[in-house]
Amino acid sequence: MKQLAFYIAVAAIVTLEQLSAVKAEEATRPNILFIFCDDLTCQSLSCYGDNRHLLDTPHIDRLAREGMRFDRCLVTNSICGPSRASILTGKYSHLNGFYNNSNCKFDGDQVTFPKLLQKSGYATAMIGKWHLGSDPTGFDDWNILPGQGLYYNPSMITKDGRVKTDGYVTDVVTDLSLAWIRNRDKSKPFLLMSQQKAPHREWAPALRHLGWNKDQDFAEPETLFDDYAGRSLAIRDHDMGLERTFTDLDVKLVPSPNMTEAQLQEWNAYYEPRNEAFRQANLQGRELVRWRYQRYMHDYLACVKAVDENVGRILDFLDEEKLTDNTLVVFSSDQGFFLGEHGWFDKRWILEESLRSPLLARWPSKIAAGATNKNIVSLIDFAETFLDAAGLQPDAEMQGHSLLPLWKGETPSDWRQSLYYHYYEFPSPHRVRPHVGVITERYKLVHYYKPDVDDWELLDREKDPLEVTNFYTDPAYSNTVKVLHAELERLKVEVQETAEPPRSAYGSEPFEGETQPENPKPKN
Ligand code: CA
Repeated sequence: MKQLAFYIAVAAIVTLEQLSAVKAEEATRPNILFIFCDDLTCQSLSCYGDNRHLLDTPHIDRLAREGMRFDRCLVTNSICGPSRASILTGKYSHLNGFYNNSNCKFDGDQVTFPKLLQKSGYATAMIGKWHLGSDPTGFDDWNILPGQGLYYNPSMITKDGRVKTDGYVTDVVTDLSLAWIRNRDKSKPFLLMSQQKAPHREWAPALRHLGWNKDQDFAEPETLFDDYAGRSLAIRDHDMGLERTFTDLDVKLVPSPNMTEAQLQEWNAYYEPRNEAFRQANLQGRELVRWRYQRYMHDYLACVKAVDENVGRILDFLDEEKLTDNTLVVFSSDQGFFLGEHGWFDKRWILEESLRSPLLARWPSKIAAGATNKNIVSLIDFAETFLDAAGLQPDAEMQGHSLLPLWKGETPSDWRQSLYYHYYEFPSPHRVRPHVGVITERYKLVHYYKPDVDDWELLDREKDPLEVTNFYTDPAYSNTVKVLHAELERLKVEVQETAEPPRSAYGSEPFEGETQPENPKPKN
């Protein structure tokens, strides 16, 4: 009997010890705040030091100053929905099923990192732009923009239906995010995905930022008038140029939708006199492109300015609530974007501007302030990183790597030296041919392979940082080409994409000469 009492007492002590261990762990498990933008590119952030110095972003720069800036965070398929699906699942498009924005709907039954965090005791929420076609799963609370969402007075969708809001979308998403943190279940650590629409096309500014540049000119990129000489038809036959693709809405010759009368008045007071001067000038050719570039930069950068201000609001709020020390803040975007380079806007290409996402991470106890990292990292690493930060194992099918060792300033000896890339959506929008490629620190080997091209390109960032030259047939590169071909084949096996993608991977529109796409576009 005495023995039994002893065992019960021991068991009780063990249980208490275990319990306090759990409590201690709960106290140290970090909150995770993921601040995500849409089409935000490194060239627009002062902490990335673009030589055009387009904009000062002091609040986003604060994250770089107090945390780590990644210089080569690369996407695996440079377009919105696919990047979002890869972040949630930690998998490439061909394994999570979300290849393109045209006919894909995210399968919310898949394993995602928010689900695993939720299951392990995190309070989870998703607020802002979701854009995956199906309702969010793995979140205690969600409040999302329908589809692309609107810049002014956007509706939001919650579990209970549509809700109207007043104001500018970037402010609205931040207001809702801060309200959620304030009212969260404080017995748990939290995951908040606060996802901005900005600075997505049509780049509509907050009214307070109209004329923010005081009509000063923005520096032009060196390749604004790229002639695409020696490049694949895929590059030349694009439909994403300032010269050939810009619409009246893009350049604000017509107003963005959904403003109130008072808002529209303020909008017109800024744009109308400038638009009238433009009409009178009757610009043609390069002068027209130059005018469009200036208007584009005013608008795009104004959108980034609002993001920056709202990042400032969030960081101040974390300070006030004494959450800064135990909150991992990760700031990124679903891809980069062209700001006139090669004469383009938009993304999709394996080229540096659209391939590279900004990535800043702050976690005061774990990441040295002001650190930078040049390793190739990717959005497919985010899921495993967040799980690792919370002390959880990744799902066995995830294809990335936790960034925690890099945050400690250690690069594992087996860290990736190359990354596999595959873009599918064609022909619309923007006529960017499907391409597959391998990216290393210095080179890119690219195959434009469908439907009317079969072109290889080799890019050398060291010799040609603007990426305007194809070295593929240059004899000096023959060995490099051979090595990269082998690496591409090796990566296909590693990421499990050895089979031809299904027809539906390319979208719902037929290629020329093709009558019936495999999957019609879904209604919603
Ligand atoms: Ca995007």
